[in-house]
This record gives sequence, structure tokens and C-alpha cells, in this order.
Amino acid sequence: MSAKLDAILAAARDHARDVITPNVATWNTERAWPRAASDKAGAAGLTGLYAPEAWGGQGLPLAEGIQVYEQLGLGDGAYAFALSMHNICTFAACGYGTEAFKEAWARDLTSGRKLANFALTEPQSGSDPMTMYTRATINGDGTWTIRGAKAWVSLATEADIYFTVVKTSDAPGHKDMAMIAIPADAPGISFGPLYDTPSYRFLPMSEMYLDEVVVSEDNIILPIGQGLQGGLMAIDIARVSIASGCCGLMQAALDTALSYSKNRKMFGRTTLDLDGIQWMLGEVATDLEASRLLYRKAAEALGTPEGPLMAAHAKRFVPDAAVKAANTCTQVLGGMGLLQPYGLDRLSRLAQMLRIVDGTTEVSRVVIGRALKKRAAGLPDLPVPKGYGETDEPKAVAAE
Ligand SMILES: Cc1cc2nc3c(=O)[nH]c(=O)nc-3n(C[C@H](O)[C@H](O)[C@H](O)COP(=O)(O)OP(=O)(O)OC[C@H]3O[C@@H](n4cnc5c(N)ncnc54)[C@H](O)[C@@H]3O)c2cc1C
Repeated sequence: MSAKLDAILAAARDHARDVITPNVATWNTERAWPRAASDKAGAAGLTGLYAPEAWGGQGLPLAEGIQVYEQLGLGDGAYAFALSMHNICTFAACGYGTEAFKEAWARDLTSGRKLANFALTEPQSGSDPMTMYTRATINGDGTWTIRGAKAWVSLATEADIYFTVVKTSDAPGHKDMAMIAIPADAPGISFGPLYDTPSYRFLPMSEMYLDEVVVSEDNIILPIGQGLQGGLMAIDIARVSIASGCCGLMQAALDTALSYSKNRKMFGRTTLDLDGIQWMLGEVATDLEASRLLYRKAAEALGTPEGPLMAAHAKRFVPDAAVKAANTCTQVLGGMGLLQPYGLDRLSRLAQMLRIVDGTTEVSRVVIGRALKKRAAGLPDLPVPKGYGETDEPKAVAAE
């Protein structure tokens, strides 16, 4: 591990221990994004992970920077998720933005002074982004006028800029899609009521309405034709980031269960002395090790042809393992596992949320299923017994 990665992971671990863990319950009660905390994350170098040093970033490769969310996930998976989205937008800004955009925004984004988020989902268009309506019209002076509505916008009302995927014509399909960064103070942008979530209440989320919003062409991040492709690449990075954050969550759940069960006495010994409890926690520990290996391998694959498939494997496996880990660890504490101060209920809800965001577990299965069909096409044919699939009509098999 490079000294730089070592230092940034230590900074993320300290941030989780000193800033997130002691305060997350209060943040949830206050229901407000902890801007002072994200300012501290910026000062610690956690908001420009993949951006070049020339723009104030850390210049880490994706495969290394993604490990930061495992450390932040020890504190809170939703906070880790929000910072991961900011980092992805900052990476896109520094890698694909115009020079004018970089001059105006890059240093504020890498330092965390300004926050960014990504807006792809629409009310009618979640798992199926091809049904997107938000539409940009290109004006004679090069500016874009945008009309439409986005849904599930994280950091809604809090981010300073929204990296928004839009269509630029009425043609069906994705060939006309682009990504443009819309500043929060652009006239015509507004937000719906905040979603009422059961946990992670400090993360503001709502619909975002774009009513004749005019944006400079300097803010085009991905030109026409690359909006969906670039958006999906961003989502692959996000999927692996979520898997990384889930590993922190699993570690936090496991450590809570260990810290409690080594003290809880029953039948003349501690619960941790019971074989059955060791087996339960042993499974969590194995799933955690497997999850770590998987997300790190997926992170290495980002940007290669294997990237989308590996991201799907990580997003399919790890959040499911995190749900199981949070529930198992709750069970290990018995009734105490349900009480607020132990925080396991919060972890269960977070893990379930992480199964949905940035492409659900089922959508990952669809990606994996497509890859399996491609593989099947290249394999030799095995004979199918006579009567199996020779016609399209299902045939009743006569009883002997
Ligand atoms: C906490 C949170 C934060 C979010 N933040 C953002 C954000 O900042 N920016 C943004 O753009 N989006 C954001 N999202 C949106 C998120 O990416 C979507 O919720 C997700 O893509 C699923 O879309 P949907 O909720 O519309 O579900 P739907 O698409 O309506 O899916 C409903 C169900 O159908 C299943 N399904 C879909 N397709 C298939 C299939 N082919 N086979 C079998 N089952 C299928 C799904 O898995 C799901 O179980 C956020 C979501 C959450 C929960």
C-alpha cells in the first residue's frame, strides 16, 4: 500500500471515529446534512480522492480511493454514500469538464467547500433510465435550456451543483443523452418536500424540478451521445463504492456483536463462548472477508471491459451480505439488539437502503444474467433429450 493511500485511509478512519460515530444519532434527530462534518472531510482530503493534485485532489487511482468508503462506512453508510457521489462528480468534472468549468469549480469541489451530486433517476425512470424525459434544448448562443424533473436526488437543497443526465431530442434511446452540471442557484431550479425516510434522515433527498433552467455550455460534462454511457460508468464506480461502504457497515455490526457477547453471561459463561453464537458470527466474518476481496477486485476492474460485470457482482453480493450481517448481529444481542444505543437497527436499515441505491440487487442480477448468456453462446452445445424444447408449444408428458 502506498504511503499516500495509507495516510488517506487513516484520515477516513479517524473521521469515522471522531466525527461520524459520536454525532450520527444527533444528525438523524436534527434531520440536517452535517455541513461542518463534510467540511472536515474536505480538510482531511476525503472530497477529491480521484481528482488530480493540480486541481487540489489526491490523485488516487479508483481502485485505491474506493477503499476510503470502507473506513467511512464504519461510521455511517449513508454519509459514505453521499461523499462517494460527490467524489465521482468531482472526478468527472476534473476528467471531462471544460477548462472554464474546471477553473470555476474544480478547487471548490476537491476541497469540499462546495458539494456535488448526481441526478439521473426520474419519477418514472429508476431501474430503466431509457424512459427519461428531462430535456435540454440547445440555444443559438450555445447555452442549454433544461426542463424536467429528477427524483431521489441526494443532497437535495444542500449540494452546490447537480451533475444531471438529460435528453437533447425527442428521439427514443440514449444516443442523444448528455450530462450537464446545473448550479443550485440557477434560476428555475427548485426542490420538492424532503422524502420522509426511516433512518439516514440527515441525508436530504427529494425531487428536483427544472423549469426553463438556462446553463452555460461551459458546464457540459459529457457531450451529446455520451450521457448515458458516462452515467453508467459513474454508476459502476458508485456500485463498487457502495460495496466498500457495506464492508465498513459489516465490520461495525460484527464489532458491536463481539463487544456485547463477550460480556453477556448465560449458562455459566458468555454468549460468545456458545458454539452456536460463534458459528453465526463466524459466517458474518467469512462474508466480510469475501466481500472485501470482491469489491477490491471489482475496483481494479473499473475502466476495463470487465468493469460493469465486476461492479454488478460486487453490488449483488455485498449489500445482501451486509443485510444478513446486520440482522445476524442484532440476533446475537437478543432483545438488546433492538435498542437504539447499540445502533444495529440503524445498520439494518442502512444495509437495505444500500441494496437499492445506484441500481438494485435485481438490476445487478440482470447484468450478470446477460453476461452468462454471452458465455453460454460461446460454449459447446450439449444435446437436449428428444422431446425437450423441440417445439415452442409446451407438451404434456404422458404418464407411464
Ligand atoms: C437512499 C437513496 C438515494 C438515492 N440517491 C440518488 C441520487 O442521488 N441520484 C439519482 O439519480 N438516483 C438516486 N437514487 C435512486 C436509485 O438509484 C433508484 O432508487 C434505483 O435505481 C431503483 O429505482 P426505483 O427506486 O425507481 O425502483 P424501480 O425501478 O421502480 O424498481 C422496483 C423493483 O423492481 C425491480 N426490478 C427492476 N428491474 C428489474 C428486472 N429487470 N428484473 C427483476 N426486477 C427488476 C427492482 O429491483 C425493484 O425491486 C437513490 C435511491 C435511494 C434509495
